[in-house]
Amino acid sequence: MIKSIKGTKDLLPTDVFNIQDIEKHLVQFLSIHGYGEIRTPIFESTELFARSVGEHTDIVNKEMYTWIDQNGQSLTLRPEMTASVIRAYIQKQIWKSEPISKYFYIGPAFRRERPQKGRLRQFHQFGVESIGSDNPEQDAEVISMAYNIYKMFGIEKLSVNINSLGSIDCRQKYSNDLKESLKKFKNDFNESEIKRLENNPLRILDTKNKKIRKIIEENAPSIFNYISNDDKKHFDMIKKILNELNIPYIHDQGLVRGLDYYTKTVFEITSDALGAQDALCGGGRYDNLVENLGGKSVPAIGFAAGLERLLIAMNLENEENMFTDIYIVNQETQIIPQIMNLADIIRKELGVSVYVDSLRRSMKSQLRHADKLNAKYCIIFDYEKLKTEKVYIKNMNENEQQIIHVEKIISYFEQDS
Ligand code: AMP
Repeated sequence: MIKSIKGTKDLLPTDVFNIQDIEKHLVQFLSIHGYGEIRTPIFESTELFARSVGEHTDIVNKEMYTWIDQNGQSLTLRPEMTASVIRAYIQKQIWKSEPISKYFYIGPAFRRERPQKGRLRQFHQFGVESIGSDNPEQDAEVISMAYNIYKMFGIEKLSVNINSLGSIDCRQKYSNDLKESLKKFKNDFNESEIKRLENNPLRILDTKNKKIRKIIEENAPSIFNYISNDDKKHFDMIKKILNELNIPYIHDQGLVRGLDYYTKTVFEITSDALGAQDALCGGGRYDNLVENLGGKSVPAIGFAAGLERLLIAMNLENEENMFTDIYIVNQETQIIPQIMNLADIIRKELGVSVYVDSLRRSMKSQLRHADKLNAKYCIIFDYEKLKTEKVYIKNMNENEQQIIHVEKIISYFEQDS
């Protein structure tokens, strides 16, 4: 038997129904905030991610699905969307036509991680990118949007963690001091942690290793103490706006996030409802990315959120949501063509969903199936009643039925709607 690839998921109609419903609300929410949808290709040149996400990050080092195309070009399934959005922004030179661009996206991303609950190899992200403003109100808008999305979906026990990494210039000094402060504990580090410390010291702050976390807590300097006064002012203004908006947050000086392109503000929203993989979404400012990828110097900020984790937090994973308005119950094979035509007429004229059984099951089974589909009504074509051209209309919710003439079916439902 050929099976799906580890870390990928088949979505059946109930799952898709839930996801489409969430997407509908998301699109509505993001649109009223002035963000428009952008769709970029699922694969890009590998270089794009190496140069943006960062060559020494876990994502680029070991998690990307990369292959060499027939023309020798290295291609990669996108592990995230920001790089692609910025690539598109640069390629179309959007800054020439608009001073600020606000995009949102929803789509699949791919990372070869060790699968577990809430962690997949093909997962789905939604997110926003606001490109053009370096003012703190833009950061606050993005953070508050992320928070309000989870509120909109009824998720409680949210924790909003924010921090500032300052501008790139202070990063170098911090990286050196961090390395220096942890040098004497090298014996406690494994090979990959030593490598991180060498190549990309900030990444060590992301470690899940409890022993190393403790060493860091007790010995490492805090990046927040390295940022400039301007960066601090920027951060203070964000906090002021979040206070005004009644958005609870925690200033977590240890928060650095796992991608290289962040500058100044970084944030993450977590939920107790999630378990080990507790991050619902993460984001931050990336003021140098547009320029680094070959565009003009344009500041930007965004967030990315996992759709599967939202579903887990909403507890929608196993919910049955299938429904139909009208189920036509029929056992008379000679009237099947007319039944199918009737179903079509009802769908067209009333715009409601109509289900017709094609298994030629017993009346009892069809009624049971109607119940399972949460049908509101059944139209029952019964041999005896048909002799007088009458049918039963059964109201499934109230468990009562009426007898009407077949020609009155449409008008019956018109009155009812
Ligand atoms: P990142 O791009 O790593 O900042 O991730 C942003 C969000 O995407 C996370 O907070 C998660 O909600 C989600 N996410 C990241 N990686 C995965 C994964 N492998 N499986 C499911 N969701 C993920």
